[in-house]
Amino acid sequence: MPCPPSRHSLPEDIDHAIDSGGHPREWSKPLQSAYEDDQRGGIFLETRFLLVVGLVVAISTVLVDVTVSPEIASRGLYLRLVFVVPVILAGLLISKPERAWVATLAMCLSQILFALVVIHLSFQMPVVSANRYLMSAGIILGLSNLLFQFQFWQLACYNIVYFMAQVGIILLQGPDGVAGYFDYISILIGISLGTLAISERVSRLVSRNFLLRLRNELAAEELRATNQLLQELSDRDPLTGLSNRRHFERLFGEIYGTEQPSAPDNIALMMIDIDHFKEFNDNYGHQTGDRCLGAVALVLDHMVGAEGGIVARFGGEEFVVAIPEKNAGHAADLAEQVRQEIEGIPPVERTSRDSNVTVSIGIAQCSGRVCADLDQLIKSADQALYQAKRLGRNRICLAAPVREAAKITA
Ligand code: GH3
Ligand code: MG
Ligand code: MG
Repeated sequence: MPCPPSRHSLPEDIDHAIDSGGHPREWSKPLQSAYEDDQRGGIFLETRFLLVVGLVVAISTVLVDVTVSPEIASRGLYLRLVFVVPVILAGLLISKPERAWVATLAMCLSQILFALVVIHLSFQMPVVSANRYLMSAGIILGLSNLLFQFQFWQLACYNIVYFMAQVGIILLQGPDGVAGYFDYISILIGISLGTLAISERVSRLVSRNFLLRLRNELAAEELRATNQLLQELSDRDPLTGLSNRRHFERLFGEIYGTEQPSAPDNIALMMIDIDHFKEFNDNYGHQTGDRCLGAVALVLDHMVGAEGGIVARFGGEEFVVAIPEKNAGHAADLAEQVRQEIEGIPPVERTSRDSNVTVSIGIAQCSGRVCADLDQLIKSADQALYQAKRLGRNRICLAAPVREAAKITA
């Protein structure tokens, strides 16, 4: 007896279920409930569709009655309108997705009633016509077995009730009547067993198809998640966790590109470089230098993020920032706050008074269409940064607003 997997992940359960080829009742509980959820909505819609088909058949078969035996046509129509159609209409009107069993019950009941009407009408016909006419009740049972998406035991119950109802009405005819219907009963049993076997085979294929589909969906989801992770990793600087230069360039285009409807009119771009960082590394070691880069990145991320700007590690000990410049002096004020905050990062060695890190910042500003030229903005901010370094470091310098060619002002 196959052992249902337990405490396994869903993908493992799926593989196990596919390999074992077992019945859904042998699957793990999560897999079973996923299958039930998947089937539920479809079965409800399918059953309603079958009810509509049943309604059309119940009424249009009056044409068959007319062809086979005109004298029973009106009686047939009357019986179907009184017994079959109301059940179908009730099923259509009352059932809801959360009350899908109403549609199912109406479907089964209407089929059984329809077959009873058929068999009752056959009593009113000559034997030759009756035998042909009765075949429709057998066809209904066969089609029901193939179309109803029931579990096997449900379908078997339906067949038994259908069969009992048929035999019951025949028995009411008395012993002579039963003998006349022996062929029909045999054929009905044959149809029932044959289509039940086909139905069971189809439901195995449907459940296997569900497993394969679910496995594909999970694999696609995993692939999407991996791709997203890869994308995030390729966008991030691993040491500081900030965006890298490539991601910054993409973000800049997405947020500040001139074709963006929400792009701000005025933009400031800052190049931020840690002062004497080579010396810092030489004095305190590369690992301390790495931690220092992380601390500077944290300050930038926090302060620039609060202003709705973007920040990235440009390379080495250099960072780049872009912010929408809300008013004149906004970027310079923020740069000065950033500079002070970084200067205030606690010293790495309590014994050394020179272990604070400082940064120099070059700022380029632009407005309107020229802001699209990121290279020009970077070049201009770089020149201002160079100026800040020349003037003694630990300071900010503004470039002239970017136009055709940038001019440096200290
Ligand atoms: P300046 O004030 O002119 O900018 O001087 P500086 O020493 O900061 O500039 P320089 O370009 O001479 O040296 C940059 C240093 O930054 C050298 C390199 O070891 C260090 N650096 C670059 N990337 C990293 C990193 O990822 N980790 C560490 N610890 N140091 C780095
Ligand atoms: Mg430096
Ligand atoms: Mg540098």
